[in-house]
Amino acid sequence: MRWSQAHIPTLRDDPADAEAASHRLLTRAGYMRQLMAGVYSLLPLAVKVRAKIATIVREEMDAIGGQEFLLPAIHPAELWQKSGRWELVGEEMFRLQDRRQSDLALGMTHEEVFTSLALELASYRQLPQIWYQIQTKFRDEPRPKSGLLRTREFTMKDSYSFDIDAAGLDRAFDAHHEAYANIFRRLGLEAIPVAASSGLMGGTGSVEFIVRTDAGEDLIVVCPTGDYAANMEAAAARLDEVLDEPGELEKFPTPGVKTIDDLANFKGGAPADRQVKSLTYFLDAEFVLVLLRGDHALVEQKLADHTGALEIRQANPDEIKERLGAEPGSLGAVGVSGFRILADPALKGRTNMTTGANEDGFHFRGVDVDRDLNINEWSDLRAIEAGEACVECGNPLEVLRGIEVGHIFKLGERYSAAFGAEVLAEEGTANTIVMGSYGIGLERSLAALAETYHDEAGLKWPMKVAPFEVVISVIRPDDAETMGVADEIYRQLLAAGVEVLLDDRDERPGVKFADSELVGIPLRITVGPRGVADKSAELFDRRSGEKQDVSLDKAVGLLVELVEQGREPV
Ligand SMILES: [Zn+2]
Repeated sequence: MRWSQAHIPTLRDDPADAEAASHRLLTRAGYMRQLMAGVYSLLPLAVKVRAKIATIVREEMDAIGGQEFLLPAIHPAELWQKSGRWELVGEEMFRLQDRRQSDLALGMTHEEVFTSLALELASYRQLPQIWYQIQTKFRDEPRPKSGLLRTREFTMKDSYSFDIDAAGLDRAFDAHHEAYANIFRRLGLEAIPVAASSGLMGGTGSVEFIVRTDAGEDLIVVCPTGDYAANMEAAAARLDEVLDEPGELEKFPTPGVKTIDDLANFKGGAPADRQVKSLTYFLDAEFVLVLLRGDHALVEQKLADHTGALEIRQANPDEIKERLGAEPGSLGAVGVSGFRILADPALKGRTNMTTGANEDGFHFRGVDVDRDLNINEWSDLRAIEAGEACVECGNPLEVLRGIEVGHIFKLGERYSAAFGAEVLAEEGTANTIVMGSYGIGLERSLAALAETYHDEAGLKWPMKVAPFEVVISVIRPDDAETMGVADEIYRQLLAAGVEVLLDDRDERPGVKFADSELVGIPLRITVGPRGVADKSAELFDRRSGEKQDVSLDKAVGLLVELVEQGREPV
């Protein structure tokens, strides 16, 4: 490709609204343009990178016996009603009606459609099956942001496994786990597998693959020894043992005290870890009290996972006052009954605690959790903080930020039971198929690569995913002899199968260098009149930043060698 003919609209400045490096650089370097919030057009450079990612994904899926399908992106409502997700998913699903007023959805995932196809599986002899596709998905994100990291239209490789029993599912799940590790290793992405919540998918097992970046929205909890890693939504930590003094229950005035901090600083109050924090929620319209230690934060997903509630929202002050008789700031559970009360195990067995008295401006001290609170259910609900002890080894945990590039689920019979997907077992009985579901975001992976491989000057692709492997920067393309030499190198590289971009634009050298570094092409060879006169050219490796002069007759051989080193072993 000649740069003069290529559509690579590089920009001098960062887009104003872009914070994440991938968003900033992919826009500036001419890889993408925003069409509307969370929806992007991919330009030719991005299409090339994405195609290389897709090739690696396909190869690893085929290696574990995957068969490629292509399912529609538009779905009839009936399928989603059958699984119960038409109601369950809510506003994140794009919905529309056709001219006959039939309800339709734009697919955000394809469990329903794949399961409907699995109805044609009849016998255990046809199992196991692994079916996959690379298809556009839609999700009406409330806050699309960070360019390709959080979009409303995106491409996923999604696959689905169909097995006769749980042992089969375990094998399919493990095979995907390994395939994903291979995919991310081959892409050059360091993706950490972490235990995760199953969320909307349902099911029993769930592992996310997270790439570390400050632009990510996922918090993960990791033990530096490598024996524990979990998403914040599923993470646990060992609790320090606490020795409490016994205490007498006593109500005391706390004028102006509204928060945990206020009470910690109040004379006669208590430090945060000696307080019971009382939160009020509606879980599918049921009012509940959620109790945590004062210094602990609630993870709402843990509340959802524990209760199975579909809709979770905090109660507002009027609703609280009506039920508990006080404003937020003086709430507690002492003597409260008639409402479901859930508590985090960090409160178990605690005595001499302090909490709100359900009377504005009053608290209780000397609270004995077992004696004074009617707790209905104990469940881990709290957010883990850096420095807490690992459940496996006791070492201090780290909390890292990252983006999810892959997610694998053990669905079990969640969808097959709803659709009646059964096969005849060896014994002649009808067995419900056991399923798994597995996803990788293609543009997410592309953005994660951009987050991982960049510097101040721009993108720095690894050879195996780069849109072009070599750029020839021609200084003075108007000089016939120089252009002749550059054309010859270009022709020879093409003949050797190298993906090469010939920068024949009528631009200053500074612009050409800056553009090639912004776009992130791994190798650059600069051909100019002075070099041509002494039969040399400058070779620049974008990845290492190293420059060297090479003689013109050795240049092509060296470039081919470097390209082959950087490519994937075949
Ligand atoms: Zn550990």
